[in-house]
Amino acid sequence: QAKKHGKDRYELFEPDMRAEFQATVDLEADLRRAVVRHEFELRYQPIVHLATGDITGVEALIRWQHPRRGEVAPADFIPLAEETGLIVPIGEWVLREATTRVAEWNERRAGRPLSVSVNISAVQLEQCVLPQVVQAALDASGLPADRLILELTETLLVDHRAATLHRLEAIKALGVRLAIDDFGTGYSSLAYLRRFPVDIIKIDKSFVDDVVDEPTAAALTHGIIQLGRALQLSTIAEGIEHAGQLSSLTGGNCELGQGYYFAEPLTRSALDDLLFPVHRPDGGN
Ligand code: C2E
Ligand code: MG
Ligand code: MG
Ligand code: MG
Repeated sequence: QAKKHGKDRYELFEPDMRAEFQATVDLEADLRRAVVRHEFELRYQPIVHLATGDITGVEALIRWQHPRRGEVAPADFIPLAEETGLIVPIGEWVLREATTRVAEWNERRAGRPLSVSVNISAVQLEQCVLPQVVQAALDASGLPADRLILELTETLLVDHRAATLHRLEAIKALGVRLAIDDFGTGYSSLAYLRRFPVDIIKIDKSFVDDVVDEPTAAALTHGIIQLGRALQLSTIAEGIEHAGQLSSLTGGNCELGQGYYFAEPLTRSALDDLLFPVHRPDGGN
């Protein structure tokens, strides 16, 4: 074997690396099948107007129902989907499914239409057809463009090329809104806020986590809210888990929020029950 020419260290790591490589290859084959067999589902996490508690929208979050492994979280397959390009068909499905479901809910909520937020990967934004893909999802679902929010990460905006800016402007021209996800965790160059047509800032959970106990996190959180206000952007706080976090955020005039304190990401039928509760005659639970 070639090993005897290598360093001792190499010998130690090789079997591990091979196992890891094989696992990646298996997962990739599974992911390709999953696209064809429609093994994905969406969860919908309510986004709440903090001052009133009203649900103003939902964030669509993907899950993979793997036939053997069970439910796979996005952190465990989105990176591979991005590397292989499979995020393109997966992301198109997410856009179509999310807009269709929310348009259906909105038909039953006359006058109080929900918005839907969809996460968009940098790889999708590299596709010059993305504006057409977004428009096709709006046309097929009947969802008005201003009810769709695309969530982008800061990193994507900082590493931008001219084509990215043009594509985002083309998407904005459809009437769709843009949000910066996980705000404050990227390279944190605020310069992109001048160039990109952003509407919403999502304050990352890591700030919200410590907003009660850590003065620095509180100052940053409240500073981000004020920055948003000065730029006429909405702010959404992510990952609210406790009443104390909620009162700190409302005290700082944060407009919107989401988190386990209100609701976890819900299945389609669970969100349906939340939006349209069935009133039982006995008033029972
Ligand atoms: P994200 O867009 O920042 O989504 C928020 C994540 O925080 C979700 O994790 C959500 O379940 C979780 N979360 C919400 N509230 C709370 C809370 O109170 N406490 C805690 N501990 N967690 C909370 P999830 O669903 O596992 O998604 C993780 C990431 O995967 C997302 O982060 C997003 O970047 C990515 N992702 C999810 N769905 C899609 C998709 O359809 N397409 C793409 N490209 N990425 C997606
Ligand atoms: Mg998001
Ligand atoms: Mg986020
Ligand atoms: Mg996040």
